[in-house]
Amino acid sequence: MPLRRFFDYTLPDDIKIDAIKPGMRVLVPFGTKQRIGIVCGPQESVDYDQSKIKAIIALIDTTPVFDDHIYQLLNWAADYYQHPIGDVYQSALPTLLRENRTIDDLIPDCYQITNKGIDWDLAQLHKALKQQTALKLFKTHIQLDKSQVKAHGIAPATIKAMLDKKFIDTTKPDFKPFDYSETNKDTAEKPLKLNVEQAIAVTAINNHLDRFYPTLIEGVTGSGKTEVYLQNIEEVLQKNRQVLVLVPEIGLTPQTLTRFKNRFKTRIDIWHSALNNTERFNTWLNAGRGTSAIVIGTRSSIFIPFRDLGLIVIDEEHDSSFKQQDTFRYNARDMAIYRSRMLDIPIVLGTATPSLETLKNALDKRYHSFTLSGRISGHQHQYNVIDIKALHLQSGMSQPMIQRIDAHLKQHNQVMLFLNRRGYAPAILCHECGWMCECKRCSAFYTLHKANNQLICHHCGSQSRIPHQCHDCGSTNVQSAGQGTEQLEERLTELFPDITISRLDRDSTRRKGSFEKTVDEINQPGRRIIIGTQMIAKGHHFPNVTLVAILDVDGALFSGDFRASEKLAQLLIQVSGRAGRGSQAGEIALQTHFPGHPLLQDLINNGYGHFSRYLLKERNDAILPPFVSQLMLRSHAPYPALPRDFLAQVRDLLSPYQPHIELLGPLPAPMEKKAGNYRYQLLVQSGKKGMLQSILKLLLPQIEKLKLSHKVRWSLDIDPMDMN
Ligand code: ADP
Ligand code: ZN
Ligand code: ZN
Repeated sequence: MPLRRFFDYTLPDDIKIDAIKPGMRVLVPFGTKQRIGIVCGPQESVDYDQSKIKAIIALIDTTPVFDDHIYQLLNWAADYYQHPIGDVYQSALPTLLRENRTIDDLIPDCYQITNKGIDWDLAQLHKALKQQTALKLFKTHIQLDKSQVKAHGIAPATIKAMLDKKFIDTTKPDFKPFDYSETNKDTAEKPLKLNVEQAIAVTAINNHLDRFYPTLIEGVTGSGKTEVYLQNIEEVLQKNRQVLVLVPEIGLTPQTLTRFKNRFKTRIDIWHSALNNTERFNTWLNAGRGTSAIVIGTRSSIFIPFRDLGLIVIDEEHDSSFKQQDTFRYNARDMAIYRSRMLDIPIVLGTATPSLETLKNALDKRYHSFTLSGRISGHQHQYNVIDIKALHLQSGMSQPMIQRIDAHLKQHNQVMLFLNRRGYAPAILCHECGWMCECKRCSAFYTLHKANNQLICHHCGSQSRIPHQCHDCGSTNVQSAGQGTEQLEERLTELFPDITISRLDRDSTRRKGSFEKTVDEINQPGRRIIIGTQMIAKGHHFPNVTLVAILDVDGALFSGDFRASEKLAQLLIQVSGRAGRGSQAGEIALQTHFPGHPLLQDLINNGYGHFSRYLLKERNDAILPPFVSQLMLRSHAPYPALPRDFLAQVRDLLSPYQPHIELLGPLPAPMEKKAGNYRYQLLVQSGKKGMLQSILKLLLPQIEKLKLSHKVRWSLDIDPMDMN
């Protein structure tokens, strides 16, 4: 339950006190229902009427679902993020374990070689080559589960034939922890010979595998960071310890996985949101039992238990997807740091564009830091800033930009256009009076989607018909304004009729597998234009792209969010990293009305390293994170007075603690109305993190007692990353 408290139960006579441990699941009566509880005891007494306490109905587990370490980690997180403990436990529990079923019950059967199979002479199978290959595999592996069988490319028909011949049978897996010395190194890709900078980083980390050793590796895309991780991982596997690799939401590409699988002929499991419940449960189980050597996963893989975790790697540590933006608003990167500290193991954070939080830790020498200064291929990007002041734009593109696109296509290269706005046009407007068609439920304009012939609100999903008349003055001169990816595709088709165009955004990749299919097409050589939103900024290597065109950077240069310039710079560098990875250097062309903007100039001329250190100084001067800690209280309701008054009351509770804390608000959120709700926020800031936490802990019970707290929805966000 999303409540900040524990509930007491007694043990029935048939459960012995030694059978029950923290982190086990129990079935308990709760109100009129039965629910799954996590044991957080035992404790010997309670300070109220004992006769009112109900008894546990049944103990579900024989061993805790949360081992000691995970249990401590979760308790720390609930405390740090001031989040209801039950919800924290729930987030960490694979869906299949949220029901009253034992782990043994859920473990799927695997295939195991029989004595007949062991004794069978492979030569006798020369007429059934598929079975021969499979049997050979079973002779070395003994057991293979369904996902391994699939990974090795053994067809279901082959398995059936082998079951019929009694070469193999089905059984429960015995979860033998992986043994790296038993893997076949002959088929594995060999480590590359490191350059000096890589070698320094690899050696430093490998010399400190037995302690907490937080390390930042700063290097542009293609500078060889992954090779560094791979050689650290190798060393950890040699010790038969496991590795967790955290990657951004859409960073877990088939290319990444293949790279790991080619290098390490040992069990690698993955974890991301597209897996089904069974697949996730299997990864969770195999990591916990020690059968998987490496888990590569997105944000929530930080909760996976490991038998013996020896290293955590976070790729693209600055990525905003590591922070959960609703309910339990944890930051997987920060939790990973805490986890590696608890375990006394190294953690490696890699990125071309460190977050200012991480950069500060590195500059303050709390993290070790290493720089990989060049691209392995030796190519440098050429920046081309196009001043679009007073230029005529065609669907957002200036003539000089169109010429650059044409020039690269003529060289038989690929061009990538980046526009972070899907749909056809971001607004519909009356040409006579300036009226704009606004979503009734949000303080936002409708986006025109020509493909569906509809207006869609990108914030609440509501749809509306395209108006033929202005709702204010009645004029029929109603037009679309601005550009989205859909319109860009339409215009480019007109401009370059013989060029293939691939669009990658949320609309064009909704169907399962269509994203991968398009990426595969792009990896074929040949002229092509790729249009994309931020979806294309990450992870993927497009070796044939030589021009990256960025159509609009001005919005972020003048945003109200103090993180906007940091995010813009990270995005620019990230998008640029997609170009020229093959044998040719890349050009980055960007359009702006402000070519002389100091931030833009600094970034282009001096690089992210210089730029980010300057930003850090600005943050220091402005007393902003990471020099102070923040927490955001948000509240919403269908009427503006409710959330505003609620937060004003919270402010009254907090104000005696000034000047230890600073209070800003309550203020309407940047998007005041969303999906029919009015949204307000109260920002609390302090130079002393501990102070902020203790005051909040003290006041939470009082906040929860406010009458208005039950009439509004409200949430707490510790270290908010998003000011919306
Ligand atoms: P990053 O992770 O920083 O993007 P990668 O590790 O993927 O960089 O390296 C970029 C490319 O350079 C890859 O194709 C990789 O195989 C190659 N590479 C990396 N290190 C070396 C090295 N020491 N010698 C030769 N090639 C290397
Ligand atoms: Zn009008
Ligand atoms: Zn809306």
